[in-house]
Amino acid sequence: MESGPRPLAKLAITGGGRCNLTNSFEGVDSLEAVYPRGFNFMKRALKEFSAADTVRWFENAGLPLVEQDDHRIFPASQNAMDVVNTLLAALQGVRMECNAKVSDPLGEDADFYVVCTGGGKGMEILRNLPVETEAAVPSLFSFNLSDGPDGGRSAVCSMMGLSVEARLSIPATRLSAEGPLLITDWGFSGPAAIGLSSYAARFLASKQYRSALLVNWTAQDEESIRTALKSCRVESPRRLVSSVNPFSLPGRLWQYLCDKSGMRSTQTWAELGNKGLNRLAATVGSDEYYINGKTRFRDEFVTCGGVSLASLDMRTLESRNRPGLYFAGEVLDVDALTGGFNLQAAWTTAYIVSKSIINSL
Ligand SMILES: Cc1cc2nc3c(=O)[nH]c(=O)nc-3n(C[C@H](O)[C@H](O)[C@H](O)COP(=O)(O)OP(=O)(O)OC[C@H]3O[C@@H](n4cnc5c(N)ncnc54)[C@H](O)[C@@H]3O)c2cc1C
Repeated sequence: MESGPRPLAKLAITGGGRCNLTNSFEGVDSLEAVYPRGFNFMKRALKEFSAADTVRWFENAGLPLVEQDDHRIFPASQNAMDVVNTLLAALQGVRMECNAKVSDPLGEDADFYVVCTGGGKGMEILRNLPVETEAAVPSLFSFNLSDGPDGGRSAVCSMMGLSVEARLSIPATRLSAEGPLLITDWGFSGPAAIGLSSYAARFLASKQYRSALLVNWTAQDEESIRTALKSCRVESPRRLVSSVNPFSLPGRLWQYLCDKSGMRSTQTWAELGNKGLNRLAATVGSDEYYINGKTRFRDEFVTCGGVSLASLDMRTLESRNRPGLYFAGEVLDVDALTGGFNLQAAWTTAYIVSKSIINSL
């Protein structure tokens, strides 16, 4: 039963129309880093149906896949419609109804009920079911920035298009994320911002998407930043601070950080006293911004929250309150960073539910 006019319409637009259907998980040291919600469950679930099983399943179904250097896996054709059509071909003989919104699933007469209505509005169906839920909030978004709670658009936005390896963190919390940070015309995007939006999804929702934000433009620790700045002072005393950039940051960004630290345009490294060096180190390592709203990340977004895993039998994903009622996909309180991990969770949980039902027959 599909409420929309076509089945798998969302799958057709995933991965910017290319469908990043899984990830090899190479370089993923801890599942907690990619599944902020549900990592313990996913640890066991992936043993049932792993990324390798996904690859095998699609290739056996006649769809060649490719792994990119960043370990994300796509159809070799780079066309999400080929993933959709492969699944539809496997569903031949299955009765499917479109334009068929279900509001009271248990009202239908059936032996088994599988709820896989996705995130966002799809979670409305949970109101009519005997199941515990975790509050649903968005994840995977970009940050709108202002200069302070009441300030206008942050000056950093004038450098839109620049991308640097950075670490973002929310002060007075342990929430942080590292990776390429993209400056946009409204704020920050790119893997570091999108990653932090996932780790901090609940925190930021509780603050109405208004919070202080720190940027470490080098992703190095404070001591290394100070050591690098001190070396410049010793090695290039006569040169302008703005012309010697020890962190290989884009020239425009280095100039911006020097200005923000109060450097005069004629200031040389020799003239940079300890106070000035400390100011520059603080701007490079803990540059302050203010998150003032969010913007949907256009390539991928997902709902954090949904059916509480504690209310399900973790081996079967069957409701503890209502035998015969199963849940799979994004409707569960499992969500991930970008990179194919969300679709992998959907394949894995769908497999577990299918196997549970078959085993119970
Ligand atoms: C733009 C975008 C790009 C993405 N790209 C990627 C990517 O490349 N890789 C990745 O891993 N993840 C990606 N994701 C996340 C991924 O799409 C989801 O995690 C995944 O689709 C979840 O699958 P699902 O079957 O649980 O839910 P969905 O794919 O959302 O499917 C649920 C279906 O249920 C239907 N439905 C809802 N309520 C009802 C109802 N009451 N009655 C009947 N039908 C109903 C909906 O119409 C929908 O078709 C992307 C998400 C978005 C929005």
